[in-house]
Amino acid sequence: MSPAELHALSAELIRGWHPDLRALHAMADIEETFAVRIRTSPVIAAWQPSRVTVLGDAIHAMSPAGGSGANTALQDAAQLCRALTAATDGEDITAAIGQYEHQMRDYGYAAVAASAKAEAERGSLRNPLLSWLFRRVARA
Ligand SMILES: Cc1cc2nc3c(=O)[nH]c(=O)nc-3n(C[C@H](O)[C@H](O)[C@H](O)COP(=O)(O)OP(=O)(O)OC[C@H]3O[C@@H](n4cnc5c(N)ncnc54)[C@H](O)[C@@H]3O)c2cc1C
Repeated sequence: MSPAELHALSAELIRGWHPDLRALHAMADIEETFAVRIRTSPVIAAWQPSRVTVLGDAIHAMSPAGGSGANTALQDAAQLCRALTAATDGEDITAAIGQYEHQMRDYGYAAVAASAKAEAERGSLRNPLLSWLFRRVARA
């Protein structure tokens, strides 16, 4: 779809939203509208740590439905920084990276799963029957 078509489609999808939000959408630079592909990282098995590591979306991309992708990336940065500053020599650095990766896989993949669940729940809200079921289950 062209930027104009995408903008028109998104206007249609938010027609029930608060007028202030719709006004904000209407002020967008239409030519800058583009589609964003949402990807979810698969869980991958632990690897041998080295002086090369990963953080953020490079290892645990997730649906924005949970609002936690950037927060998890920042958590990675803080954990990695903590691990590296505690290490003193070359060998310690690789071990520190391994320690960071071990923790990061735990909370990172937990955040991916939570975001996928949030997206599934949001998706169900668009279907009246599923929405009713979801509210019943949530109340229970
Ligand atoms: C629609 C949407 C809504 C979101 N809402 C939220 C939210 O409410 N809360 C939240 O916590 N998260 C949210 N996120 C997720 C969040 O944006 C990402 O998880 C976060 O930006 C990941 O940070 P990152 O540094 O790992 O990757 P990125 O922000 O993608 O940064 C990677 C950078 O590397 C650059 N790059 C790529 N390839 C190369 C290369 N070969 N050489 C040099 N540079 C390169 C890219 O240009 C980019 O600047 C949302 C995401 C989307 C798409």
